[in-house]
Amino acid sequence: MIDTHCHLTFPDFQEPAYTGGTAAVLRKAAESGVTGCITVSTTPPDAAEALSVAVRFPNVWCSAGVHPLYSDEGPHDWGLLRRVAAHERCIAWGELGLDNHYKEPARATQDAVLEHHLALIESCRREGLDKPIIIHCREAFDDVLPVLRRSTLDPARFVFHCFTGTPDDARKVLDFGACVSFTGVVTYKNASGVAEAARLVPADRIMVETDAPYLSPDPHRGVRPCEPWMASVTALRLAQIRGVAWDEFHAQINANAARFFGVS
Ligand SMILES: [Zn+2]
Repeated sequence: MIDTHCHLTFPDFQEPAYTGGTAAVLRKAAESGVTGCITVSTTPPDAAEALSVAVRFPNVWCSAGVHPLYSDEGPHDWGLLRRVAAHERCIAWGELGLDNHYKEPARATQDAVLEHHLALIESCRREGLDKPIIIHCREAFDDVLPVLRRSTLDPARFVFHCFTGTPDDARKVLDFGACVSFTGVVTYKNASGVAEAARLVPADRIMVETDAPYLSPDPHRGVRPCEPWMASVTALRLAQIRGVAWDEFHAQINANAARFFGVS
């Protein structure tokens, strides 16, 4: 399986913090059946860095995006972001969206970056550069969904990553038409609402990720860094939560990642 969302550019996965660096992270992942990773970016320079990792390792792909919690680190080099997005090893836009969990950056700043980001994605699409979109949405479903609905982009091209909302939030995302992706949060004992939401997602619209280096799944909760190999732990638990045989769920998430991101 593939870890569809991690951050391999973070210092947690470089030497000296991580002995052996990215190669060792990927080796360990492969030993747990996690044979590929999508390293997701948070700023234009980080996207360039993520692309260099994706170019170096055949089983790593990257995305190009400005994360809402980095929206105040502008002015953003949208030209650089676009150049990264045009590369064949870059297989998605993101992560972009809104985060109401923290007071900073100000919502006006987050809103402006999201609008600009979507406009760039739309103009690229008109020019034939068409990639799926990874959405970061934390406590902001009623703010993000109307913005996406106003865009000209196909709802099926969006994935709401690291879903931590309520079953009601999940229904809203599913009504919109997007995919939903789960991290280790779905394994936490105090996150029964997220597990309930995971049962609502149709088999062909669910994906699995780590968001490493954050959010290690149970029984590794609190371990930093969370690593791509732990996607296998979350996937096993998700199959149980949904009451589906592992082989069936495994095949389904692989098919979904292959269809959505075009990688396997
Ligand atoms: Zn992330």
